[in-house]
Amino acid sequence: MSSIQLILQDPMVVREFLRARTPFETAKTALFCYFVITQSFKLCRHVRARGITDSVKESWSWTYRQILLLALKVPSVQKEVQQQMDQARLDIEGKLVPQGADVTRHLVLPDEGKTMAWILAEMEKMDGEMGPHADWKHGKLSGAVYHGGEDLSRVIVAAFERYTVSNPLHPDVFPAIRKMEAEIVSMCLRMYNNPDGAGTMTSGGTESIVMAVKTYRDWAREVKGITEPEMIVPATAHAAFDKGAAYMKIKVHLIPVDPVTRKVNIKRVRRAINRNTILLVGSAVNFPDGNQDDIVVLGELAAKHNIGLHVDCCLGSFIVPFLEKAGLSDGEDGGARYKLSPFDFRVRGVTSISCDTHKYGFSPKGSSVIMYRDAALRRHQYYITPYWTGGVYASPSLSGSRPGALIAGTWAAMQYMGSDGYLKSCREIVSCARTIANTITNSIPELYVLGSPPASVVAFGSKSPELNVHEVGDAMSKKGWHLNALTGPAAVHIACTRLTLPLVDTFIADLRDSVREAKSAPSGKGTMVMLYGLGKSSAIGPELVSELATMFLDTLYKA
Ligand SMILES: *Cc1c(COP(=O)(O)O)cnc(C)c1O
Repeated sequence: MSSIQLILQDPMVVREFLRARTPFETAKTALFCYFVITQSFKLCRHVRARGITDSVKESWSWTYRQILLLALKVPSVQKEVQQQMDQARLDIEGKLVPQGADVTRHLVLPDEGKTMAWILAEMEKMDGEMGPHADWKHGKLSGAVYHGGEDLSRVIVAAFERYTVSNPLHPDVFPAIRKMEAEIVSMCLRMYNNPDGAGTMTSGGTESIVMAVKTYRDWAREVKGITEPEMIVPATAHAAFDKGAAYMKIKVHLIPVDPVTRKVNIKRVRRAINRNTILLVGSAVNFPDGNQDDIVVLGELAAKHNIGLHVDCCLGSFIVPFLEKAGLSDGEDGGARYKLSPFDFRVRGVTSISCDTHKYGFSPKGSSVIMYRDAALRRHQYYITPYWTGGVYASPSLSGSRPGALIAGTWAAMQYMGSDGYLKSCREIVSCARTIANTITNSIPELYVLGSPPASVVAFGSKSPELNVHEVGDAMSKKGWHLNALTGPAAVHIACTRLTLPLVDTFIADLRDSVREAKSAPSGKGTMVMLYGLGKSSAIGPELVSELATMFLDTLYKA
């Protein structure tokens, strides 16, 4: 029985309604009924999407957290927490901000402008002061610098130089920049098998995703009249989807992934779809563990319900489109099967794809492409106001003015690499990732690989309760590696880049050593262990971690 029937059959409600004599009272009661009915529908949809158990768990942990937060207001507790936070602030500052009286700080504009020689010398000094961490060339960074070759850098710098002052906001003044942006989008659309599609460049994967979220919100409002939009996002999808939804007040249903395959749980996706759904999301591949969602099945659902399906290929970028040609899209390798299933516009129901040129496209940072199935959908990404005092204002994405130099740099990088260059880099990088994955699976019995990642990312967790994988991550940090910590389950990941290639044997040797160290002498310390341990220590753990993260961001702006 639906909630409407329940309410209408409640004799109290009906009698109350009839007894109301004045039109005002009738209206009041009707309004009240309307409120109760719509709210109960909302609740039903919510519980259906989350499942009864999870809904109960969610409300319980919310209540518990509120109680703990109240307890934190007790002055003595507050003082204790404040002391620990102050200590943490000092630790963070000690790590990020150079200390000491001998550090030169440029806190005010110099009275007179400096020479180029002075500027370069000062930069050299700053790199020295910041210590060996500024040295990215050693290649032990996960997914931070994707190419780093001197040859390509020179090409990009030459493009920057030529187009330093250009701005695509003025296509009449910088016609070549306009053309290059259109060509970058076109090349990507062809790579993803949608030559008749449409797209724009953005400042990075996050902007591409946030713009897609805005596009579907506006599309759904105009075409389907949806005013309380919801989107359905795998738990392994990038945080940019939550960010976009938070900016635009869209409700997000985070759907868990299968613990073994690491693909989003399709049954749960199906259950979460309702008349307010505007968008489904899938990754090819996801950031945390490098696995791929089942895009074909998500596409069927999206087509059936006439909603969007965004495939996040920000990380897959210039790797996944080349896997098939590299002969690596469906292979047995060291006993494991790595299979890339269809993910691009050839899949029915896929309506948009984000692809980061600044990841495996090797273009300068600050560049990404968002693609749509057709130009009709892209229109909803635009912002146009004809009423501005400054004149008619029309812009394709979040920014107004944009750096044309980045477009030129991206165009140059893509021309320099070419299809054969990307094919070669795909082959090398993916082989490197598979070597790491196979070695873990076959010869490090304490660890396991999450899912069977088809591309460049490998995540590993611990099989034994005695071994904390974040301790392994901390031991790797001591050996100079910058890896990423994951939660749900606790794991550590590496995104292989061209800089990882020569270090694959070192990585494996260091990993074996780190497992041994973490097992024989767990320290219970280290950044990963402390931060992620804190996050799980209590119901307000995440609150404390957020407080630390806020402090971290504040520290970034300490000169
Ligand atoms: C990197 C990444 C993004 C976007 O990140 P930006 O840092 O904004 O470029 C989105 N999705 C995935 C899967 C990613 O790896």
